[in-house]
Amino acid sequence: MVNTSHVPERTCIGCRGKAPQVHLLRLALTDSGELAVDARALMPGRGAWIHPDPGCVDLAERRRAFGRALRMRGSPDVTPVRDWVGLHGADRGRAQSPSPTGERQTDSKGG
Ligand SMILES: [Zn+2]
Repeated sequence: MVNTSHVPERTCIGCRGKAPQVHLLRLALTDSGELAVDARALMPGRGAWIHPDPGCVDLAERRRAFGRALRMRGSPDVTPVRDWVGLHGADRGRAQSPSPTGERQTDSKGG
């Protein structure tokens, strides 16, 4: 084993469970104050962390954890988060793909 430093852990705003931040999805606010998924954890400002799991999104919404975690008034529209989780949530355990450009292979040769 290498002498690893501690893995940064974050608390999921849904289930309140702790997990290494690579296993969590970062949420942040856009300039216009809307909730956005910050999959690469690059957006500036305050962020919130959540498991990419519909159950956790549900929990967080019910306890209004988004607004609290992001210091915003009221409850944000969590649709972007749901969409993201719906698209990528099933891929949990897979390494995050570094390239957002999906290479499609539409050419079907032969056959
Ligand atoms: Zn969770």
